[in-house]
Amino acid sequence: MRSHYPLAIIGAGPAGMAAAVEAAAYGATCVVFDEQPAPGGQIYRGIETPAAVDRAVFGPDYWRGGELASALRDCSADYVPEATVWQVSAIREIGVTVGGAASLITADQVIVATGALERPFPVPGWTLPSVMTAGGAQVLLKSAALAADGAVFAGTGPLLYLIVWQYLQAGVSVKAVLDTTPGANYLRAARYLPAALRAPGYLGKGIQLLRGIKKAGVPLVRGVTDLRLLGEDAVSAVEYRRGGGWRRIETDQVFLHQGVVPNVNLSYSIGCRHAWNEAQLCWQAVTDSWGRSTVEGIAIAGDGAGINGAVAAEHQGRIAALAALCRLGTIDVQERERRAAPLRTALAAERRIRPFLETLYRPLKRFRVPGDDDTVVCRCEEVKVAEIRNAVAVGCVGPNQLKSFSRCGMGPCQGRLCGLTVSELIADLTDLPVSEVGYYRLRSPIKPLLLEELAELQVPAAAE
Ligand SMILES: Cc1cc2nc3c(=O)[nH]c(=O)nc-3n(C[C@H](O)[C@H](O)[C@H](O)COP(=O)(O)OP(=O)(O)OC[C@H]3O[C@@H](n4cnc5c(N)ncnc54)[C@H](O)[C@@H]3O)c2cc1C
Repeated sequence: MRSHYPLAIIGAGPAGMAAAVEAAAYGATCVVFDEQPAPGGQIYRGIETPAAVDRAVFGPDYWRGGELASALRDCSADYVPEATVWQVSAIREIGVTVGGAASLITADQVIVATGALERPFPVPGWTLPSVMTAGGAQVLLKSAALAADGAVFAGTGPLLYLIVWQYLQAGVSVKAVLDTTPGANYLRAARYLPAALRAPGYLGKGIQLLRGIKKAGVPLVRGVTDLRLLGEDAVSAVEYRRGGGWRRIETDQVFLHQGVVPNVNLSYSIGCRHAWNEAQLCWQAVTDSWGRSTVEGIAIAGDGAGINGAVAAEHQGRIAALAALCRLGTIDVQERERRAAPLRTALAAERRIRPFLETLYRPLKRFRVPGDDDTVVCRCEEVKVAEIRNAVAVGCVGPNQLKSFSRCGMGPCQGRLCGLTVSELIADLTDLPVSEVGYYRLRSPIKPLLLEELAELQVPAAAE
């Protein structure tokens, strides 16, 4: 690892890998930092050493990642795994910890490709042991071939169905799928169907997943409008409301999921401007068509700049790399435009499905804005709805003030798991638009950093 790079990329998912491969193809010197032990990001996690050997388990979309990971390994980019980036400053000083040693390096251009997180699902009991996200279930399956037999999956969105399907392919039994997709969404989404039909293969894949789940005989309960998870030391049952009454399923494992949202911690801490995306119900960095943020020299590519899926992330990574290369003087504007044109066409095709998916799988307000006073919102600091309600009642108008009132969002996850809920809950309680309520003000370090690491920080001469 050098102390300075013309181009630094944070994240080795599809966006970061593609950006590095593109930059390296033009001979640029670049580095890719990723906190995981191997390249792939969320979708292609463990692609180089898949835990489940049967290729059928993860489906064809997963295997697409193998080529990209090999291209990253084969190209000239310095790929640094197990590298946690805890800071990128507005002047592009990058704080990174590798193997317990922290360093500060600098870069002329930075591409943030830190991807997505699962949307919080704050229902009563969601913090009980043996309640996890469906993404967590997939991480265990992909990285360690671990699975929980007889689990209940609850929520909405294509990723939920995909993970249930992957479980079934792996021969793991699923007790039930509680589908919280609001019935009214089907009608609303219908107007976007023609565009969705022109998107490459997505609808067909979705139908196949649902067919697979039904064929396996897994009860698929649609129209679930409320959920609560029960148990003493761990979850022992899930209760759900459908129609008028509550029903109950005994289970010792629940997986929740209601879509993914951009991971904005790094881009917020850099000082990039963000805006509320009402269609995707999340905060996202404001970027131009090259992925450039409002901070000079910082671009955001992939799901971190708004959810568009893995293939789109790959195109966005390449487009952001071309813009960075042009700024660095490695390529001229004509070459940038020439190479970007087919990528833009492919990106537009990928995006055609989004309005349909965003409308159909828009989660119910009930599951985003918890109504029950006892529900935990901030898991790190154990702040419940009642505390937030009380703070708002005595004049707290935003997430940053809420930190002073309650420490909400001040734990090790730095608001990743509660930020969206807090923005929407305060908006609901104050009758203000979420865009006005805002988000946490985030500062580095965005990931836990030991004092020992800080004391021994390696600072390059130029950055001292
Ligand atoms: C849990 C989960 C599972 C998913 N599974 C699928 C799936 O099976 N199929 C599918 O189509 N879509 C899936 N998605 C959606 C999916 O993430 C993408 O569409 C796609 O992976 C986005 O690519 P990306 O390059 O933007 O980000 P990602 O693939 O998320 O890659 C981001 C990378 O950045 C790294 N990173 C983040 N912060 C830091 C930091 N501070 N320092 C260093 N490295 C950092 C992460 O370790 C990660 O490797 C999943 C999403 C989630 C949250």
